[in-house]
Amino acid sequence: MVSDQKNADTQPLVMQQTLASEVSCMGVGLHSGAQVTLTLQPAPANSGIVFVRNDLEEGANEILADYRSVCDTLLCTKISNDHGASVGTIEHLMAALSAMGVDNVRIEINGPEVPIMDGSSAPFVFLIESVGLQTQDQPRRFIKVLKPVSLEHEGKTVSLAPADDFIIDFSIEFASEAIGHQQIKFDVSASGFKNRYSKARTFGFLQEVEYLRSKGLARGGSLDNAVVVDGDRVLNETGLRYSDEFVRHKVLDAVGDLYLAGARLLGCFTAHKAGHQLNNMILHDLLADESAWCWTTQAAETRDVSNVIAFPSSRTRPSATNMGGERVSLAVASPAE
Ligand SMILES: [Zn+2]
Repeated sequence: MVSDQKNADTQPLVMQQTLASEVSCMGVGLHSGAQVTLTLQPAPANSGIVFVRNDLEEGANEILADYRSVCDTLLCTKISNDHGASVGTIEHLMAALSAMGVDNVRIEINGPEVPIMDGSSAPFVFLIESVGLQTQDQPRRFIKVLKPVSLEHEGKTVSLAPADDFIIDFSIEFASEAIGHQQIKFDVSASGFKNRYSKARTFGFLQEVEYLRSKGLARGGSLDNAVVVDGDRVLNETGLRYSDEFVRHKVLDAVGDLYLAGARLLGCFTAHKAGHQLNNMILHDLLADESAWCWTTQAAETRDVSNVIAFPSSRTRPSATNMGGERVSLAVASPAE
């Protein structure tokens, strides 16, 4: 792989970031219903995102957040290691880490599933903002898409094409009038994730939820952590957080799933009716073809991020002790669009 010489000398480097200090939350897994504690810890530059199942034996309990670790995409994105340790429903946390500019983090968790919280990425954005970020001494690396890659599977399509920024163009189509056709295009490189996407909740149909429950799944699911649609109606009394919350959640899922590439992409991801499976398949297709991508530290992404303050190493950091062991509750208002 060669670096991108074309932009060399023209773009300032974006440096890697980790959390300024440790922060925790508690909650239940959507499918397992199990109560878990999740702790985000600062991690060294170039170490990436690593989940650690601290309820399992040391030495066999680390799972790298990587597209090749994905073992199941049926109801969520689940990753596992060679020892059989796994962690599921990682996508909403991964989306928050990607969009808020967290390159390196060690995620300790004492159960098989990331807590669903309110079904969105907002609680994880809140956790990251509550401790802030630490700038590190290594440049961020990006995966630059060099040529188009696309695939189709059971009427669903996804593609990646060259672009200077990380763009997601997503469309969905449901017979239910509560959803219908929705399409949106988002520049992930620009700030905006927090207000315009992070609060979009996962969703499902009532009959699916009942079926999953009969199979022992969705045990932790409720109207507190998902939008539930029955026919043409949204059952949640408080309605939607965005008029097109469904497609915004699909964008959020894609931001999280595509971060499993191991770095932020520079390219345009276009998807129609896709989900976790195709999000993962396109990464395999792209990264298997060495002529289709390259590593680069040169990106136009100086606007990156976030509304999170990055603390230089010499500055005093805020304490996050008030977060330890408490369930995070958020007052999520309808965002001003
Ligand atoms: Zn989701």
